[in-house]
Amino acid sequence: MHAAPRDDAPTGFAGILARVREEFAGPARTHAERSRGRAAVLNQLLLAAIVLLVAGFALLTGEDERRTAFLFGALTVLAGAAATLMVPWGRIARGWVLVIPLADIAGIALLRWAEPNGGLGLLWAFPAMWLAALGAVAFALQLVLITALYWMLVAAAPTQGWTYTTFLLPIVILAISATSFVSTRRFIAQQQLLDRQAEMLRAALGGAQRHEQFMTEVLDAVDFGVVRIGADGAVTVVNEAQGRLQRRIPALVDGGGDQAAVFRADGVTPVPAEDLPLRRARRGEVFENLVLWYGAEGTDRRALSSTARRLRDETGRDAGSVLVARDVTAEMAALKARDRLVASVSHELRTPLTSVLGYIDLAADNLDARPEEARRNLEVAAKNGERLLELVADILAASSSSRLSVDMTVSPEDVDVAAIVRTAAEAVRAVAAERAITVSVEGVEDARAFADPLRLRQVVDNLLSNAVKYNRDGGEVVVGTTTDGVATWILVRDTGIGIAAADQERLFERYYRARTGVDGTGLGLSISRDIVRAHHGDLTFQSAEGVGSTFFVRLPATAEAAEAS
Ligand code: ADP
Repeated sequence: MHAAPRDDAPTGFAGILARVREEFAGPARTHAERSRGRAAVLNQLLLAAIVLLVAGFALLTGEDERRTAFLFGALTVLAGAAATLMVPWGRIARGWVLVIPLADIAGIALLRWAEPNGGLGLLWAFPAMWLAALGAVAFALQLVLITALYWMLVAAAPTQGWTYTTFLLPIVILAISATSFVSTRRFIAQQQLLDRQAEMLRAALGGAQRHEQFMTEVLDAVDFGVVRIGADGAVTVVNEAQGRLQRRIPALVDGGGDQAAVFRADGVTPVPAEDLPLRRARRGEVFENLVLWYGAEGTDRRALSSTARRLRDETGRDAGSVLVARDVTAEMAALKARDRLVASVSHELRTPLTSVLGYIDLAADNLDARPEEARRNLEVAAKNGERLLELVADILAASSSSRLSVDMTVSPEDVDVAAIVRTAAEAVRAVAAERAITVSVEGVEDARAFADPLRLRQVVDNLLSNAVKYNRDGGEVVVGTTTDGVATWILVRDTGIGIAAADQERLFERYYRARTGVDGTGLGLSISRDIVRAHHGDLTFQSAEGVGSTFFVRLPATAEAAEAS
């Protein structure tokens, strides 16, 4: 790998320094290449230093005629040293590196020729080591070259003739360069192994990071809160859902929010701060579906179900625990509503049923002596029986899976709305009178609608009975009707307790009941609106707490209007 030539490359001494630095830590090279480069530079500098030393010595003492050759030899080696420092090796073709050790061999040959008895041939060990480090070919080349040169010099100017020393030098060079060759090979192999291991480690790390990322994405996608607790009890991971829960319920964080306003599933028994789920999980406790209420009664409190489990790592050692929390407010509310419904339905059913049985008893007593009276008793019993039947029908309709059940199919016709409303008002008067509530029909104007008369009566009865039920003693109920020929309106106004803002949006939910202290099923309004909507109309209301409520029924005035809407 070569570095791209740079325009802003420093020059002069700074340039030399930069190149030495590059040689030592070239960015695009492998560890092995860098180390070899470093060894070669040191090798060359050492050689140059020795040559400088010997040159000084030789020039002072040597014979004249060989001095020029000696000088050339020394200069060649020194030029090589300068080149190692100044040439940007990273940017030129690799083959050029060979030039320096080869020039060194030639330079040393000159030195040897100039000073045959100086033992300078040993200096060949330096370029030999360098070349041997470059590979098998360079290793063989230097050996052949040095041996050939040496023998040529010995042959040309035999100082001692051909003795065993003539073979000693090539053997020493062979030994030194072979050691350099082998150790370089081993070093390269080790570096490659290290590089491979580093690569594997990087891949494994990347895999682990991807896995962690995937886990985080999964955890963030689920809608229950997850808290991961380390073996030391510290919180290590919190998923997004848990973050949302914590923003909503600050008491979920250890020491946060109002830790005193946490209650058991019954909603009233306070839970001590040290028994809160997070604290318990951090202590290493295990629990399942622990339901707690966060917030005082009467406030917008939430119920959470928490589960804590211990975790073990792959070696079976303790790895902390995980705490999972789910918002179960709606489920708890549904459970409560079910209990309330069972209570109120039984109550609602009991009243007419007691009456049915009572009147049948009376009828049995009167049967012989007062048959007329007995007939009236049975009529009352039958009426109450019908009321029972209606109640059961309402509950069945509401429990059916479809919003508009079979019972909600209507058979509309042209009906006199004013007459229906007047009759219904008349029927409720007796009950209203018991609590001195007046029922006024002053607002009833002539009006007709395209509606199912029985179903419409059911709606008006329900609205009137609520207007009386939720009124104050001595209060007032006003009924009105009007039409513009397209839509017909029925209005039922009371001076009762009104409906709290919080209850208003849920009023039409099945089984929903505001806390009023009055019995009921919470079905009437939801069924009434279903009926009105089945007529292509709507049921709405306005209410002010403590002042009263007004319910409005809008119906199509004619069959055409019904079709158009
Ligand atoms: P029920 O009367 O059987 O409870 P409804 O569906 O008729 O069921 O009414 C639902 C709730 O709406 C009642 O529990 C009551 O709290 C409230 N509500 C209905 N009508 C009135 C009204 N006229 N004034 C005040 N509250 C009312």
